Amino acid sequence: MSYSKYKRSGEFRNDRRYQTVRLQRRRGRAETRLKTSVILSGVCILTAAFFLVICASYRTMEKQQTLFNDKKRRVIREGCPASMADKEAAKTVAWPGTSEHQLGLALDIVDLDYQQLDTRQEETPVQQWLMENSWKYGFILRYPTDKSEITGIIYEPWHYRYVGKEAAKVIHEKGICLEEYLENYQQNYPEES
Ligand SMILES: [Zn+2]
Repeated sequence: MSYSKYKRSGEFRNDRRYQTVRLQRRRGRAETRLKTSVILSGVCILTAAFFLVICASYRTMEKQQTLFNDKKRRVIREGCPASMADKEAAKTVAWPGTSEHQLGLALDIVDLDYQQLDTRQEETPVQQWLMENSWKYGFILRYPTDKSEITGIIYEPWHYRYVGKEAAKVIHEKGICLEEYLENYQQNYPEES
């Protein structure tokens, strides 16, 4: 029997040598697929990798007071009249007793590769991801850029506050700030009689 005829025959399909070759080929393809997916997932991990740093969390009253006093001294040094210094300092450092960090509900989060607390923070991969996803975990960007008039605080693309998943979802979907949420969406409980 010629080889081509033998190959077409059923006898060839049952030949152990042929089956071994077939299995080896199959294993080869599986190994190639496995290697490809390992390489691809490695690439995905590399491109998606970013590292966040929590640079501020809970603060005591004393700590907030120290931060406020430091800021006040700085604005005076920069030429602000002493009588206006409290107000000027309060634009960027909360009055002692009013900081969300004292509640233990706020975190300042920055990108490992860019740790400055300024508006460029919003361009980092960490902030891009947080702005898109933090609400899923019950956090909101507390002081968004277009809400300073309402919040009374400058844009802080690093300050996140825990408000719970339910509130965070509404705030994210409606594009509102916490003040607007409390005004319009807060559950109204019946008054006690
Ligand atoms: Zn903060």
